[in-house]
Amino acid sequence: MGPMSAALEQLVATLGTDVVAVDPNVMEKYRFDWSKSPAGHPIAVVRANTAEDVATAVRWAAQHRVPIVPRGAGSGLSGGSAGVDGGITISLDRMRGIEIDTASQVAIVEPGALNIEVKAAAAAHGLWYPPDPSSYDICSIGGNVATNAGGLCCVKYGVTTDYVLGLDVVLADGTPVTLGGKRIKDVAGLPLVKLFVGSEGTLGIVTRAILRLVPPPPPASTLVAMFPTVAAAAEAVVTVRGMFRPSMMELMDQASVNAVEDFTPMDLDRTAGALLVVQCDSPGEARVDEITTVRDVCRDAGATEVFETDDPDEGELFIAARRAAFTAVEVRGSLLLEDVGVPVPLLPQMLAAVEEIAARHDIEIPTVAHAGDGNTHPIIVYDAADPDSEARARAAFDDIMTAAVELGGTITGEHGVGRAKRHALPHQLGPEVMALTQRVKDALDPDGILNPGALL
Ligand SMILES: Cc1cc2nc3c(=O)[nH]c(=O)nc-3n(C[C@H](O)[C@H](O)[C@H](O)COP(=O)(O)OP(=O)(O)OC[C@H]3O[C@@H](n4cnc5c(N)ncnc54)[C@H](O)[C@@H]3O)c2cc1C
Repeated sequence: MGPMSAALEQLVATLGTDVVAVDPNVMEKYRFDWSKSPAGHPIAVVRANTAEDVATAVRWAAQHRVPIVPRGAGSGLSGGSAGVDGGITISLDRMRGIEIDTASQVAIVEPGALNIEVKAAAAAHGLWYPPDPSSYDICSIGGNVATNAGGLCCVKYGVTTDYVLGLDVVLADGTPVTLGGKRIKDVAGLPLVKLFVGSEGTLGIVTRAILRLVPPPPPASTLVAMFPTVAAAAEAVVTVRGMFRPSMMELMDQASVNAVEDFTPMDLDRTAGALLVVQCDSPGEARVDEITTVRDVCRDAGATEVFETDDPDEGELFIAARRAAFTAVEVRGSLLLEDVGVPVPLLPQMLAAVEEIAARHDIEIPTVAHAGDGNTHPIIVYDAADPDSEARARAAFDDIMTAAVELGGTITGEHGVGRAKRHALPHQLGPEVMALTQRVKDALDPDGILNPGALL
């Protein structure tokens, strides 16, 4: 028995076999995230029940210099929670507690609670937790915090970081710290809560989050418009966003509409070049004015058909179609999922660049977008059994990121850098900011054991 396995035996003895899984069949379930990015073989998966379990495992890993991959629900799209060889994966999926403090209007949440569970718990008290990634029914709050997840309503209501008031974090040496709290305003010290939000498990492990809740929004009206081209839909988005903020502005191109129709027929117009789903939820007459404006702008931009409804269930059908896009496209082949974002006025140029790149590499790239944020998801479909197809897909993946950066945009708007985009980060940040990022990482994780290979 080598020294490592003796050490592992010690971890198993401390936390118990129910918490520390070493059975390859159990561990396999925790190896990949949704993107199926390449993953190594961890030596154990720690399924923590408490923050103390997390701290114990991290202290053990620090002592033995064992890499740690924090993991929420594994719905990530950048390989951030993919297992690493010789490391341990610390899964937070059992830590699911949610407490609502109605007097402070906050939720106190353990990291493994799903986004949908937090929303439901808040709603039971007449409150709302806005961040709504399309994966809200399969992703955890810890994962949302670690990736600073966005979603459909963030065009008006902001992203995860706008709702995080406090965090409990286990640092790389196993020390637990409490940052922030149930305070709406608090500027004491450096803004460390913000530092951990979006840090992708590279600076610490979140074991509790205090989330700001707000009153629920007024009812929304939904508008769906069909356009002859993606360019026409994108122009409509830019015009509307120059006037006001709808509560949702989602775009699907023809290929993604057809993929969804093939997957679950929803009676969408397969011939449309692009489809725009817009919601407005301002109170009273303002909502009517906004929807009327959106309709006029869409018509002026060349929309061939415009449909409006105040029925929430009918509106939800179109949103469900948009949410189904990744799953629908997945059946067409292997995927490389893009997440580039640009300033909203440059959305037409970004989408045109994607079309040009698809044609140049002769590869299928259905595209959906949180268009109101300028955040696009070109989904590159390739045949993993064909090396030429994979090479063209990877070239297209990089070209799309390059195009975004050249437009003053970002390589990732919400999915994170993870392992899939690490190579492209220096191109966006430049040498000075990369060096600063590395200094922050070194200060918090001097031995580099937290999520090695992700982000940096
Ligand atoms: C169909 C589909 C649609 C999606 N739509 C959206 C969308 O609209 N918007 C969006 O933002 N994302 C979207 N995603 C991506 C994904 O759901 C989010 O990135 C989500 O926040 C990941 O949460 P998770 O719990 O699954 O995290 P995981 O995949 O388990 O992990 C993601 C990252 O967070 C780290 N991490 C997880 N938990 C912790 C913790 N407690 N402490 C420290 N680090 C931790 C991991 O190390 C990893 O780096 C979508 C995914 C799918 C499959």
